[in-house]
Parts: sequence; C-alpha cells; structure tokens
Amino acid sequence: MYGPNHHGWIEVVVGPMYSGKSEELIRRLRRAQIAKQKVIVFKHSIDDRYSAKDVVSHNGNKIKAINISNAEDIYNYIQEDVDVVGIDEVQFFDDNIVDVATDLANRGKRVIVAGLDMDFRGEPFGPTPKLMAVAEFVDKLSAICMICGSPAHRTQRLINGKPAKYSDPIVLVGAAESYEARCRLHHEVPK
Ligand code: ADP
Repeated sequence: MYGPNHHGWIEVVVGPMYSGKSEELIRRLRRAQIAKQKVIVFKHSIDDRYSAKDVVSHNGNKIKAINISNAEDIYNYIQEDVDVVGIDEVQFFDDNIVDVATDLANRGKRVIVAGLDMDFRGEPFGPTPKLMAVAEFVDKLSAICMICGSPAHRTQRLINGKPAKYSDPIVLVGAAESYEARCRLHHEVPK
C-alpha cells in the first residue's frame, strides 16, 4: 500500500453507525493476515454489543480482539514483530490514543483505527478528529438513511422510539434506547 521505504503510517476509517467501519477494519486486517503479517486487534471495552472478545460487524463478520480501556494498555501487548495494529471503537478512548497511534506508526507499524466521527448530537466525537488530522489515510464511510434511503453520515439516537434531546444523559436507566443511521435532513436533535 505504501512506498518502497518501509515505515509506518496511520489509517482512519470513520462514519456513523452501520456504515461498515468494523467490516472495513476486519477486511483490511484479514488481508494483512493473508500477507502473513503479524496482526493485533484492540477494541475499547465499553463496546460489548455482540461479543466481549471480538470485533464484530453488524453483518456478523468477526476477528479476535483484546479488550482494553486505556490507550496505554496497548503497550502491554505489542511486541517488536507486530506489523499491523487495528483499533475499533476508537472514539471511546481519551486523547492519549493519538500519541500511542503516532508512536506505533513512528516505530514502523501500520495502524488502522475505526470509529465514530460524530456523536448522536452531530458533534465531533472524542479523539477521532485529531486522529483524522494526523493520519496518512482517512476514509469517511456512509450508511443508508432509515427515513429516505439517501447516504447517511449521522447517527440518530432514539429513546423509547423518539429522537433523543441534545441534553439527554448518555446513560439512561430503564429507557429503551436505539440508534439508526440518518442523513443531515432527517437527523433530529431537539433542544
Ligand atoms: P459500523 O462498524 O460502521 O457500525 P458494521 O461494519 O458493523 O458498521 O455494519 C455494517 C453492516 O450493517 C452493513 O453491511 C449492513 O449489512 C448493515 N446495515 C444495517 N443497517 C444499515 C444501514 N442503515 N445502512 C447501511 N448498512 C446497514
């Protein structure tokens, strides 16, 4: 993918929920494995939607991953012979993930991160914007808007079937919460 002088780099895959970020991350990591490269995969432990231990896409594709909650935990697992480092749900880490990804790339690793670029309010999410700034490659994926079928770049948060308000707390005990992909026109965040 890159030039003749072997050095590391950062790839970022972003988009709303259901845009295929995990699918794309898994695809790139599998191809690296086919090329006999040593691959290691991490995901933030807050995301346990299907399996505590794997990166799993909404269509059921999966790859083994290590659950961590701090960016620095990555160093406990990285050996010199690792070629490719994958990180899913990168938006949940703090800004230290930017330094860790940069350090790994500087040490010759290919670093592939995937995550949400915007939160349910449509605002930049955690460290993702900074990672996009320092990365060599950025791919912004779209899903399909569940209202009109257009390309969707935003994630609609629904609480008991209604659009979540801007000020609604992130953790709502006892409420039925769901998310769907929406385009700009149909993304609703009541004040
Ligand atoms: P992400 O990691 O971005 O949430 P995934 O890779 O887990 O996305 O899942 C992508 C898959 O989700 C698609 O291939 C498709 O099968 C499914 N899907 C469900 N709802 C939608 C939608 N609204 N738009 C696009 N794909 C969707």
